[in-house]
Amino acid sequence: MLRRLTLGMAVIMLPFAAAQLVAAPAEAAPSVVTLHYDASDLPDYQAETAQAVANWNGLEHNVQLSAGGNATILLHEVNGGGSYTQTDGHGNGDIYIDVQQVAQGFDPTRIIAHEFGHNLGLPDDYSGPCEEVMSGHGPGTSCKNAVPDAQEAAQVDQNFANGFAATSSRRVTQD
Ligand SMILES: [Zn+2]
Repeated sequence: MLRRLTLGMAVIMLPFAAAQLVAAPAEAAPSVVTLHYDASDLPDYQAETAQAVANWNGLEHNVQLSAGGNATILLHEVNGGGSYTQTDGHGNGDIYIDVQQVAQGFDPTRIIAHEFGHNLGLPDDYSGPCEEVMSGHGPGTSCKNAVPDAQEAAQVDQNFANGFAATSSRRVTQD
């Protein structure tokens, strides 16, 4: 009996121990990707750039934008033609901010947050509400929101859950 009892106990212990043995290692949290940007060629919108960056950084876990360093996102000022970006959608690109579009009444911080959104992998959603930054000029000049919504922020975190891709040759132009 005693023997059986011991055996019984041994069997009972085993599954717990076995469970411990086979527990999958906890998933390592994705390391935070730091994307460096350079806004030196956008002299008139330094404060707006810093605010747009803070708006994104405040919502993201897997990726952060940081000024200086080996920049892969470059911001430029243009005069006419509309604001746009040429990007691989994964942290590499050139952003062009049109001073005429600002003069028409579009909020510069919102435009910059929108163009960063493309470099973080988000498409345009012009029919979307003002609460989204990717609705861009869709909601009109009265829309001054420059803070991404929760869905936009979650999509960007997902886009960078597997890290940062090296410079990609394929770049697309998005307004
Ligand atoms: Zn756009």
